[in-house]
Parts: sequence; C-alpha cells; structure tokens
Amino acid sequence: MDLTLSPEEEAFRDELRAWVAEHHPGREPEGDEAAFQFRRDWQKQLYDAGWAGVSWPREYGGRGATLVEQAIFNEEMVRARAPQLANVLGLAMGGPTVIAHGTEEQRQRFLTPILSADEIWCQGFSEPDSGSDLASVKTRAVRDGDEWLVTGQKVWTTFAHHAKWCMLVARSDPDAPRHKGLTYFLMDMEQDAVQVRPLRQITGEEEFNELFLEEARIPDENIVGGEGNGWNVAITTLMHERATLAFGLQVAAKIALAELFARARETPLDGGSAADDELIRQRLAQLYIESEVLRLNAYRGLTATMKYGVPGAEGSLGKWHWSELNQALTELALDVAGPRAQLWDDPWTYRFLRARANSIEGGTTEILKNIVAERVLGLPRLR
Ligand SMILES: Cc1cc2nc3c(=O)[nH]c(=O)nc-3n(C[C@H](O)[C@H](O)[C@H](O)COP(=O)(O)OP(=O)(O)OC[C@H]3O[C@@H](n4cnc5c(N)ncnc54)[C@H](O)[C@@H]3O)c2cc1C
Repeated sequence: MDLTLSPEEEAFRDELRAWVAEHHPGREPEGDEAAFQFRRDWQKQLYDAGWAGVSWPREYGGRGATLVEQAIFNEEMVRARAPQLANVLGLAMGGPTVIAHGTEEQRQRFLTPILSADEIWCQGFSEPDSGSDLASVKTRAVRDGDEWLVTGQKVWTTFAHHAKWCMLVARSDPDAPRHKGLTYFLMDMEQDAVQVRPLRQITGEEEFNELFLEEARIPDENIVGGEGNGWNVAITTLMHERATLAFGLQVAAKIALAELFARARETPLDGGSAADDELIRQRLAQLYIESEVLRLNAYRGLTATMKYGVPGAEGSLGKWHWSELNQALTELALDVAGPRAQLWDDPWTYRFLRARANSIEGGTTEILKNIVAERVLGLPRLR
C-alpha cells in the first residue's frame, strides 16, 4: 500500500481538520447521561455538516467518499481529541451490516437515523451462557403470523439503555444444525417486552446492561439477510467491529504513548526522571515499536478491505494487538506513577481499569488467536 496521501486526500484532510478546529465542542461533561447527550449532539453536528458516514453511499445520508478518506476521518477525530460519536455500534457495525445484507427498504429506513444519532443502536449477541461461542445462543424466536415472538436473555449489551434498535441474533429453528438455525433481527427496544437492567463496570460506569426479553415482537421485515442466515450476517457485524475501529485505535495508541513519554519525563526518580530509568526506557521503546507495527497493520487491513470490499480476518490481529498494547501502556503508566497510581483521580487509573475489558470486548484474545491461526495463517483447525 502506498502510504502517501493523494492531493484529493490531502485536501479532504485539510478541510476536515479546519472544520474540527472551528467546531470542536471542548471537554466532555462529567456523568454518564450528560456525556452521552454531549456525544449525541456532536454526532448530529457532524452529520448536519456532511461528515458522518464518510464512506457510506450518499443516497443514505453518507458522504460517498473512499475508505481511505474514512480512515483519514477516524485518524483526524482522534488526533483532534474530538469527543467520541454516540452511535458507535450503529456506525461501526449496524450500518455496514445493513448496507451489506439489508434490503433496499431496510437501507432507506435505518441508515440515515444511525448517522444523525436520532436512533441509537446496540448489539444483542452475548448471552449468560453464550459469549465466545455465538452459535450456541439460546434466545428463541417463534413465528407468529408475519411477526416473531422473541424470548430469552442477553448480557453485556453496550448502550442498550440509550438504544432504539438492537442487532439481535436468536434461534429461529431449534431443529437445524446450530449455525444454521439462527436469524439476525433488528429489534425495536421501545416495547414493554424488553427490559434493560444496567451493569456496573470496574470503572464505576454503567456502559452495558442485561436484556430480558419476554415475547418481544419483531416483524418479518426486520430480518436482515434472510431467515436462518443469522450466522453469516453476524460474522459481517463482527468483522466490521474489529476492523473499522482499528484505524482510530492506532492513532489513539500513539497519542496515549506520547502522553506516557511526557509523564515519564515529568516524574522525578532517583535525582532524575522516570524516563532516565533503564527498565522504563526499555519498556517505552518496546511500546513505541509495537505502536508502529499496529499502525502499519491497520494500513494492511485497509488495503485488504479496499481489495475485497469487506474487512478480512486480519482485523482480528489488529484488535488483539491493540488490546495488549493498550494494557501494557496503562500498566507502565501506573508503574511510572508509583504509589500515586492508587489515587482514583489520576486519569491513568481510569484508563488502566477500562483497559482490562479490551481483551474481552469484541471477541476475547484467545478467540482472536484462534481466528488468526486458522483463517490468516491457515493452520489446521482444532475442532
Ligand atoms: C466492555 C464490554 C462491552 C461489551 N459489549 C457487548 C455488546 O454490546 N454486545 C454483546 O453482544 N456483547 C458485548 N460484550 C460481550 C463480549 O463480546 C463477551 O464478553 C465476549 O465475547 C466473551 O464472552 P463471555 O464473556 O461469555 O466469555 P466466555 O465465552 O465464557 O469465555 C471465558 C474464557 O474462556 C475462553 N474461551 C472461550 N472459548 C474458547 C476457545 N474456543 N478457545 C480458547 N479459549 C476460549 C475465553 O477467551 C475467555 O477467557 C461486551 C464485553 C465487554 C467486556
């Protein structure tokens, strides 16, 4: 891949950079609700200015730009320390899945409100006994005329408490082989049959939830990709989850690393600074090397997506690598801080705690290693 930007791409980047500099809304407010509303307003502002869904088709509210420009957008947002977008699951996963597998009616109905953040999306895949092994989901969908009645429990459902739509994988044919009996639904969260209960994370935030479904109604027209084809559609969602985020994450890692270098230089140690310590220098250098590898692999993943239209299994490598890098980075930050790291108000303490989830969310590291072994390296399957 040629890593230099074309004149058009440079012009795109400069226009975006200038726009963000002018419209950056500043720091996020404290508190889950206020912060979420802030991110929602920011996304709406981007949408109104034509910056949401950079690579999505124009007819559905996107900008119709290239994947490289989408990657530039993700990089620039992180570089400018812009707020996150509220509808992250709809943008990174729901929309691309509907574009790939949805009907024309579904694209017309669902895509634009994802971009404008008018309708927030969540992902109802994991269940109490079914996380890594998605094909074992037990939530049942039973046909009732031209509707489905869905009963079961989901867990770890990020942003379910804000969501209008849920990408839901349920078992629609209990007699079919496990991968074949699944259907991918878009479920309206605004019904009494859907109960959302918050779960508190180690950081103190309530980012995800349990979902209890008791004959929740979903019309036939909200099936994506056809009855019984849920496994294939869900794989599209997961591929996008791992690959799309990789680009912003590699820039985020670079920024965090620069902050860590600064912290090491500013932290007094043995008459000098922590940055003079041989072991700390060694760990910093190793993290720098890792961050470069992460960056170059993100470009490699982008090249594969441009060639084949959909992200490849390489996205799993980037997600696995990033989670290890981010965890090592936050661990070193606490080691540099010494006893001060135990103070709750140190921002690195929050980052350290949040990073614990990185090797679980979006597929555990063990599962990603299996995918890389079998699907990227072509090693024999275990099972
Ligand atoms: C912050 C966060 C947000 C999340 N948001 C969502 C969401 O919005 N929607 C959603 O559906 N889910 C979400 N999840 C759930 C996440 O996808 C699951 O936690 C993850 O897939 C693992 O499933 P599990 O927790 O059931 O663990 P399990 O699958 O029970 O795994 C337990 C352990 O066994 C290992 N293991 C399992 N199978 C294998 C195997 N075949 N080979 C080797 N090791 C194996 C795992 O790596 C893990 O260490 C979120 C999780 C987190 C932490």
